[in-house]
Amino acid sequence: MSSGDLIKFLGTAGARYVVSRQLRYSAGTLIRLGGQNIVLDPGPGTLVRLAKSKPAIAVTTLDAIILSHGHIDHSNDVNVLIDGMTDGGFKRRGRLFAPGDCLEGENSVVFHYLRGFLDEIVTLKAQSDYRQGDIRVSTSAPHDHGTETYGIILDHRGTKISFMVDTRFFPELLASYECSAILVINLVRDRPHESGDVRHLCVDDAREILKAIRPRKAVLTHFGMTMIRAKPWVVAQQLSDELGVDVTAASDGMTLELH
Ligand SMILES: [Zn+2]
Repeated sequence: MSSGDLIKFLGTAGARYVVSRQLRYSAGTLIRLGGQNIVLDPGPGTLVRLAKSKPAIAVTTLDAIILSHGHIDHSNDVNVLIDGMTDGGFKRRGRLFAPGDCLEGENSVVFHYLRGFLDEIVTLKAQSDYRQGDIRVSTSAPHDHGTETYGIILDHRGTKISFMVDTRFFPELLASYECSAILVINLVRDRPHESGDVRHLCVDDAREILKAIRPRKAVLTHFGMTMIRAKPWVVAQQLSDELGVDVTAASDGMTLELH
């Protein structure tokens, strides 16, 4: 990693209640790595949070957008970002990485008229490798989340930065994230939902994940209401103390410098 590399959590909201009330911003995550500017999962407000960042991040400097899945809190701003990053199509540039469900079929989320504005649209498949500049972009095994969903693993010069996005926990999930130096976990719930039917991670899942993977640094984000009530920074501290792993709870606008 080189100087200037960072992850900026433009928003940290997960799930409907927190997103719809904007208790936390629902913007996506900016990753600046190896000279590439990548936005992962541009939820509602991503364009606004880029523009209002200090210093502002010009949408025209984005090189790639990655969608892990098509849920609205992950994809709402994809169209306006494509329009922005290409100057309304006047400057053909940039790439979009997205699972097939985001691109074709009744739940596709990318307007057809914008697609030709991009240099390339890459359809993500499970456990596959792609490139963006000198970053290897890999997908995890399919997540259990009700729609086609992949975690995203970025490998830059041998350092793995992984984004374990929305999923229900299952033991086979772990293999995709082995050897992550930095692991970002979408931790929506404090406890499992009573119905057993909510396909999101809870704190007990995060504990199992961190015990198994032991990244150099873990960041929790994408909080639903039960996590907001539990105070994410308290949960992070408890996990750090218990496991001896450096765990941080993201806050809106938090920048993690990578060096
Ligand atoms: Zn989702």
